[in-house]
Amino acid sequence: MKYIQEAFDTNWIAPLGPNVTEFENTLQTYLGENNFVAALSSGTAAIHLGLILAGVNQGDEVLCQSFTFSASANPIVYLGAKPVFIDSETDTWNMCPELLEAAILDRLEKGKKPKAIVVVDSYGMPAKWDQLVAIAKKYSLFLIEDAASALGSTYKNQKCGTLGDIGILSFNGNKIITTSGGGALVAKAKEIKEKAVFFATQSRDNAPHYQHSEIGYNYRMSNIVAGIGRGQMEVLEEHITLRRAMHDFYISYFKDTKGITVLTEPTADYFSNHWLTAILVNPAQTGGKTREDLRLALDAANIESRPLWKPMHLQPIFANYPYYGGNINESLFQNGLCLPSSSNLTNDNRDRIKAVLDDFFLAP
Ligand SMILES: *Cc1c(COP(=O)(O)O)cnc(C)c1O
Repeated sequence: MKYIQEAFDTNWIAPLGPNVTEFENTLQTYLGENNFVAALSSGTAAIHLGLILAGVNQGDEVLCQSFTFSASANPIVYLGAKPVFIDSETDTWNMCPELLEAAILDRLEKGKKPKAIVVVDSYGMPAKWDQLVAIAKKYSLFLIEDAASALGSTYKNQKCGTLGDIGILSFNGNKIITTSGGGALVAKAKEIKEKAVFFATQSRDNAPHYQHSEIGYNYRMSNIVAGIGRGQMEVLEEHITLRRAMHDFYISYFKDTKGITVLTEPTADYFSNHWLTAILVNPAQTGGKTREDLRLALDAANIESRPLWKPMHLQPIFANYPYYGGNINESLFQNGLCLPSSSNLTNDNRDRIKAVLDDFFLAP
């Protein structure tokens, strides 16, 4: 409220101003040296500009994780480019490096070199970055990290959002921190950040009149919203601690439950903010109880949970694009559930969740 009040008191009611600058500075400090942040109106806008900065044009191909939210793929189509979807691996549920390389080789054989890769840190879990970066380098492909839900996660002590050539963050209402709606693009050079801001503010050339040599967008974050972001940065660590405590709660709850797998860091290289705690239900080991049975049991107690991402290659709008992989992400969708994970869940809330789980798993 202090930062928002400041915006009104100083009449910076615009998509620029001290809160925007300070929010960007705070994010840069948080992400570490040599990261340059452009605050934008949404994570989707950031992906759109990231693809433009990658040089993606009409007719180009972009390799994209299939197991994700539609916003990872939509901007590819905004540009008239073609998404090529890739399956996940089972450790982090993110893009499988082997399938990525197989897809690249097959596209090359078909005579078309893809322009870029979009990898997601789903539910806050970092992807297999060493392998993915090595493949991107080997084939000189531009790598975009969709870290929309992974602010505060790290891979080998490096912050998510900084692992690709360009990173993307979201501050939508449901993310680890929020500005009500907003996003950011994380660049590796000041000039790239400045180019992103140029595109985000209608691509105005340097002239006293309105002069344009490139297509522009209205994607800059407002100074009021950035005030919320500044305040949220002060509670980011606390939110991560609380989300991770929810994850610990589920880990300890399910430790003796047959047929339940909780998505957890595969090795000490990975640190997840555990934005959402997600589980897999294997009916062969739960006495036939399915993910959907569990979702409905929670729903009957007025507790919301949600199936994992329906993979993009199975979405009606993306069904005709190429897909490389098997049914790993499909089986995540079939058997997976995101459990209540918010930073503000109380002990009473946990007791209610636990009571429903007890009933569900103990009942014959
Ligand atoms: C939320 C989200 C986005 C989109 O961010 P917005 O700020 O809502 O536009 C993109 N990708 C993933 C994986 C997300 O979770």
